Amino acid sequence: MMNTQDVIALFDKYVIANYGRLPKVITKGLNNKLWDLEGNEILDMFPGWAVSGIGHCHPKVVEAVQKQVSELIHIDNTFYITLQGQLAKMLSERAFGGKSFFCNSGAEANEAALKLARRHTPKEKYKFITAEKSFHGRTFAAVTATGQPKYHEGFLPLPPGFVYVPYNDIDALQEAFDDEVAAVMIEPIQGEGGVHEATAEYMQTIRDLCDAHGALMILDEVQTGMGRTGQWFGYQHYDITPDIITLAKALGGGLAIGAMMARPEIAASLVPGTHASTFGGNPLACAAGVAVIEAIEEEGLLDNAKQTGQYTREKLEELKEKYPIIDHIRGKGLMLALQLAVPGANIVGRCLEKGLRINCTQETVLRFMPSMTVTKEEIDQAVAILGEVLDEEE
Ligand SMILES: *Cc1c(COP(=O)(O)O)cnc(C)c1O
Repeated sequence: MMNTQDVIALFDKYVIANYGRLPKVITKGLNNKLWDLEGNEILDMFPGWAVSGIGHCHPKVVEAVQKQVSELIHIDNTFYITLQGQLAKMLSERAFGGKSFFCNSGAEANEAALKLARRHTPKEKYKFITAEKSFHGRTFAAVTATGQPKYHEGFLPLPPGFVYVPYNDIDALQEAFDDEVAAVMIEPIQGEGGVHEATAEYMQTIRDLCDAHGALMILDEVQTGMGRTGQWFGYQHYDITPDIITLAKALGGGLAIGAMMARPEIAASLVPGTHASTFGGNPLACAAGVAVIEAIEEEGLLDNAKQTGQYTREKLEELKEKYPIIDHIRGKGLMLALQLAVPGANIVGRCLEKGLRINCTQETVLRFMPSMTVTKEEIDQAVAILGEVLDEEE
């Protein structure tokens, strides 16, 4: 039997050290709880970086995957499979009637969106406008779209054509726009960048400028999609319709899946031979995706994201009143952040020691992104632990 130190030693020797990992080996997850190798229970308020959006090992997902795994695990996209068609229909009906391309991750979904935008628009359009502090993934184009210099370090020169503008800055957007722009890509709420919401006016301006210049509006909904904000997709809080959205994270209830959904007349530009993914839209991932959407509807989880999101926000506001190191709370639904006046990594580590998992991004932003199945009791428990840690911090 290996213990935690043994597993860490194994990683040190054989796994590339490209992640800063917390010193715990996780062996089991159920709904909003995790267990480590020593049997300690952890309350998970950041499940799988928003992947486990309906909790760990949701019974509907488990059942759907167990059934599918014994029938057909993989078949290539040379053939049709029912589940991929069904999942595409379910997504289309809950968004803007788009058509989907399936892949395996958020970065791949964004790659597909960028390629489609280039291919669909005239040759002279080669530019992409993205936002500072954005996060779009780690493949070469996705990381280039990511408007954070720290993620570009050591990888220059990057693919050409990307232009960065400050988020929510309408003047800067107007200034950056010209007829060479193929698309604007932004997150409705920046996630990794620290939970910053686009204003309604900003979204409308993007839509108007894209229409005026024949460019496409791509929304990266990899984190905001699948209900976390209380709507199926983040854009549905606004009065606009995008041309393309990208999804991944919570779409598969834990299985690897990504999707790029485009308005049908734009999607038509991806004819055979223009783009592909070997594993994209495989039977297991699609079975999981269908189960996720059904579970969200059967269990009223969009409503829970709104209600419990509001409740969490109130509880976090109470913490803010008590602890001056919390500057303010921001976010929507179950995508919430505490802006600290100090670095938060230490707080995350101490919470974990007390059995609570949260996240810190951009050094001073604590992120609360529990699953949509989270209860008020679990929020109370989480806030109590965070309070204890902040008590010690004062
Ligand atoms: C996580 C994330 C990505 C990247 O997804 P991967 O599956 O890691 O490639 C892209 N965009 C946003 C908004 C994300 O939160």
